[in-house]
Amino acid sequence: MGKCGLAVYNGPMKLGIIGLPNAGKTTLFNALTGRSAPAAPFPNPLGTEHHVGVVHVPDRRLEQLTEMYSPRKTTPADVTCVDITGFSRGISASKQKAAVFNEIRDADAIIHTVRAFADPAVVHADGAVDPAADAAALELELIFSDLELVETRLGRIESSIKKGVGDDLAGERAVLRKFLAQLEEEKPLRNLELSGGEAALTGSLQFISQKPELVVLNVGEDDIGGEAAAVAAAPLESFYAGKDARVFPLSAKIEMELSQLPADEAGLFLADLGIREAAMNRVIREAYALLGLISFLTAGEDEVKAWTIHKGTPAVKAAGKIHSDIERGFIRAEVVSYDNLTAAGSMAKAREAGAVRLEGKDYTVQDGDVINFRFNV
Ligand code: GDP
Repeated sequence: MGKCGLAVYNGPMKLGIIGLPNAGKTTLFNALTGRSAPAAPFPNPLGTEHHVGVVHVPDRRLEQLTEMYSPRKTTPADVTCVDITGFSRGISASKQKAAVFNEIRDADAIIHTVRAFADPAVVHADGAVDPAADAAALELELIFSDLELVETRLGRIESSIKKGVGDDLAGERAVLRKFLAQLEEEKPLRNLELSGGEAALTGSLQFISQKPELVVLNVGEDDIGGEAAAVAAAPLESFYAGKDARVFPLSAKIEMELSQLPADEAGLFLADLGIREAAMNRVIREAYALLGLISFLTAGEDEVKAWTIHKGTPAVKAAGKIHSDIERGFIRAEVVSYDNLTAAGSMAKAREAGAVRLEGKDYTVQDGDVINFRFNV
């Protein structure tokens, strides 16, 4: 993630779905996880019951390799998804804010659901559907939450420095003052340029407005792919212009229906709608890209598997994802790109064609590399 120094990858990536009431969060959660969690009542007096689910990262390459190897098992990369309920306008002044904000802080990336569908049967808290206003209102709550965190931390640092025990905290204080100024202007921290050193000083504080954000614009089922979706998305796109945020129009309702169909029927349904692929697949891939994550693959008769790593990971660390022994005893990585492997038709043919390379510890693993690690323990 470079700039912010956030999201050190160690375990499944966690996506937190947030949004105002009735924006379609639970519907989106169900679409992502293929589940059918009940919609939370609105208004939701408890606001603390978050749905948690696992999402398999869609990867056509796995299917292709499964055909090639006929393994006993195929294992996709996983992402954890949390449907965070209880968010509303004015939440930063409410008692339940800690439960909600802590859950958001714990996520690696945010999926912010914004309502654009008109359905009069679904209540809107402010009476009118206004995606740009709703999105801005929610972002402001996030900024208030970060502001409180900055102020608390700055206060502690100031008092340590006064007591003469905080000399080493002056650097952090300088960065936090920069944050404070940004937040007081009601701007998110992700738009602030930071040096690697500055990012490292504050990385552990988990500021929400620093997290990568995917803005899902939940448009009416008749509007997907059409002019209406683009018109609704335009003001949001300018609102989110900058780094680490993207706007993505889709219909959560259609996606949920789609996710509950058997694969063959889902294909027909997509063809009917004139869509090539479920938007959910792209949502996950976008989140991956926002987090700077890529996958490498291992393939054999036992198992074909996708592994998640950060872009820029050296081969020896990628080996460690599989097992610490492989990292410790690393000799060489036998690498072939997915494209070269499938073009050749088999590992043996790829080898004959000279497409399989031997790489050392420092080789930077690329997305779609199919790797066989040679190691010695
Ligand atoms: P949440 O409060 O943000 O979790 O919203 P839910 O996912 O529970 O959705 C609230 C209500 O809006 C439910 O009755 C959904 O069926 C409905 N809903 C969600 N997405 C859409 C949509 O794209 N179109 C329509 N017409 N209704 C939707």
